[in-house]
This record gives sequence, C-alpha cells and structure tokens, in this order.
Amino acid sequence: MSTTTTYPLSQRVQNMEESATIKMAQMARELKAEGHDVISLSLGEPDFDTPDHIKEAAKKALDEGYTKYTPVPGLNVLRKAIQAKFKRDNNLDFGINQIVVSNGAKQSIANLSLALLNEGDEVIIFAPFWVSYSEIVKLGGGVPVLISAGIDSDYKVTAEQVEAAITDKTKAVLFSSPCNPTGSVYTADELDAIATVISKHEDIFIIADEIYEYINFSDKHVSIGAFPQVKDRTITVNGFSKGFSMTGWRLGYIGAPAWIASACAKIQGQFTSGANAFAQKAAAYALEADMGPTTEMRKAFLKRRELVIEMLSAIPGFKVNNPKGAFYSFPDISAFFGKSDGETTIETADDFCEYLLHKAHVAVVTGSAFGADNCFRLSYAASEETLKEAINRIAEACSKLK
Ligand code: PMP
Ligand code: GLU
Repeated sequence: MSTTTTYPLSQRVQNMEESATIKMAQMARELKAEGHDVISLSLGEPDFDTPDHIKEAAKKALDEGYTKYTPVPGLNVLRKAIQAKFKRDNNLDFGINQIVVSNGAKQSIANLSLALLNEGDEVIIFAPFWVSYSEIVKLGGGVPVLISAGIDSDYKVTAEQVEAAITDKTKAVLFSSPCNPTGSVYTADELDAIATVISKHEDIFIIADEIYEYINFSDKHVSIGAFPQVKDRTITVNGFSKGFSMTGWRLGYIGAPAWIASACAKIQGQFTSGANAFAQKAAAYALEADMGPTTEMRKAFLKRRELVIEMLSAIPGFKVNNPKGAFYSFPDISAFFGKSDGETTIETADDFCEYLLHKAHVAVVTGSAFGADNCFRLSYAASEETLKEAINRIAEACSKLK
C-alpha cells in the first residue's frame, strides 16, 4: 500500500521525490552493514577531512564562547569575510546586508524558492541538474522547466535554448557551474551569452550555484553575476561543503539583491534561525586563511579525474565526458540498454545502476535523478585505490552484458 493512501500527508510532500543521492548512499551503507563489500561512489562528498587549521579555529571559537544563537543572516565576522571573498574571487560587490548565511547551500536555495516563487512560476533548470533543484522548486510552488544538453554538447545548454524556454511565467533560471552531476564548466563567453538573453527580461532572476568554484580544473572561475547586464538580478549561491571539505558543518550562503536577502533572512528566522555559531567563526577564518589545503584537494581530484576518465573510457559501450570541475564523471551508458547477463536485462539507467550495485557491489547514482536518462553519476571523491577497484568491478560486470 502506498504512503499516500496510508497517511494523510500534504500534497507538497507527496509530490516530492526523495533525494536520489542520499537514498543511494544510504542503500550502500545498509548493504555494507550487512557485511557486503560495497564501494560507494554515490554521494557528492569530498573524502578529505576538514583541514586542521579550520578545525582548530572552531575549537578556539567554542572556548571563546561562540555557543549562542547567532543573528539570523549570519555572524558579522563571517558576512564580512564573505563580502571580501566575493570581491576577491568573483568580482562581485555586495554590501553586508546582501549576504545571508544558511545551514548549507541547500537551505540557501530553499530560502530562495520560498522567497521568490508564487504558485505556477516557472524556473528554468539546466539539465543534467543537481537532484534537489527540481524538488526545491516544487516545494516553493514553482514549476521546474528543464532544458537539456547531452554529452555531445559537453552537457551545456546554449543561450538560444534559454531564450526559447522563457515564457511570461518564467521567474528564474537555476544552474550550477562547475556542474553537479556532469563536472562541466560554462566558459565566460557562454555565461555572457546567457546573461545577455536574460537581461532582456527584467523580471527574471538568475540563481547561480557556485558551490564547486574551488574545484575547477580549467580557467579561473567566472561568476555570471559579474556580468554588468545581470549584476542586479543574480543571486550567487556558494558554501563551504566542497571547497573546504566541510559537508557536516552545514554552512552555505548567498549574495543577492538586498530585498531578496532580507526575504531569505525572514524565512530563515521562522524556520531555522541563524546557522551554528562556532562553525561560522571557523568558516570566516577559512575564507581568509591559507588556501593551500583547498589547492591540494583540487590537485588530488584532478589526478583522480585522469585515472577515472582513462579507465571508464576503456570500457566498451561507455561514452565518457571530460569534466572540467567538481568530482563527478557522468558517462552515457545507453549502449547497454536491451543487453542482459542472462539474468538481468538492462532497459534504463536505473536498471544499470541497480545491476552495478548488486552484481559489482559499486554504488553510483542513476542519471534519471539528474534529468539524464542515458547516464549515471560516479563520484570520484575516493582514493585512487578505491576508484581502481570500483572501476575494475564495473568493467567486469559490464563485460557480462551481451
Ligand atoms: N548545490 C550543489 C550543486 C551541490 O552539489 C550541493 C551538494 N550537497 C549543494 C548545492 C548543497 O550543499 P550544502 O547544502 O552541503 O552546502
Ligand atoms: N550534493 C551532494 C550530492 O550530489 C550531496 C548529497 C546531496 O545533498 O544531495 O551527492
């Protein structure tokens, strides 16, 4: 019997998908707990610990009494550090009143959805997209409008596609660059063209998720909000989870027009209040301190990318992209559709991932969760040894599909 017929849950939650990344990671944990030798490359989480100097700053903050409620939009010391970071790294000029710190970039995006959307407002999402975008938009009463690009376009949509998707209901455009799940990075020219299209519609906002900013193997990171034609209409989302390996600290933030920032703070003031006090103090320190550990992590991800791309490309039937950032590979495996190992027939990317989980004991996430039915996502935030073992297992399982 389905939950909907058993419990009187809200339509809102019934309409919402469970997070596929979190679900897969949990399934892998459970199989492991049962004694199976499962390698999980499902969750987008750096495998490195938070750098020591940041942990020390948090311990110091605790000793200094950063143990109380914080101002809802964030501690001043952190907002000032973010303001300086936006200027230093992104050429973005925000006043302190335009910055809101939240419990993760996920909450930042949820605040925006609740603050900006009315029932039926459309949000154009570039697909493949991070699993939570569509569900957060729906939670805010909005309608996700997906525009897609396949592997042959490096998974990047064009300004023309954006233009064609705009209607009189469009409220915002939402995307990540570097992108989760593809690792693709939009170039300055591509962002400029998209910005120009949007600048022609004065009531459309851009929500630019730049959480993988520091894991960029190509040119210097470019923020779409720095283009003059959209600078007053762009909300830049970022956070500490990826670049500083601080996923469990739960800290994200936005830089936004002041009226949007204060609406987000208003919502947050009723939902969660200000984020964790000592974590914020340490995060302020992280932004101003030595970025050496972040650079080292990026180098390690780059080395792993080379390994993963080489090994995956060698598997017959795999079409592999060359991600310029983040820590994901997003192969197209549609060549396996219709094939079978004599026991299981693969019809979809979901089947393929299930097959890998049960036959190779490797957990990855189906592309369908990211709006790409021919693909799957492999997170290479794992040691080289683990990655080699996992991909060897994948190759062996795939060789049985005829
Ligand atoms: N945006 C993207 C593209 C992500 O991959 C993630 C990963 N969790 C988030 C936002 C949210 O990050 P967090 O809530 O940990 O700051
Ligand atoms: N963003 C990460 C991922 O895509 C973490 C899990 C989540 O929040 O979805 O796997």
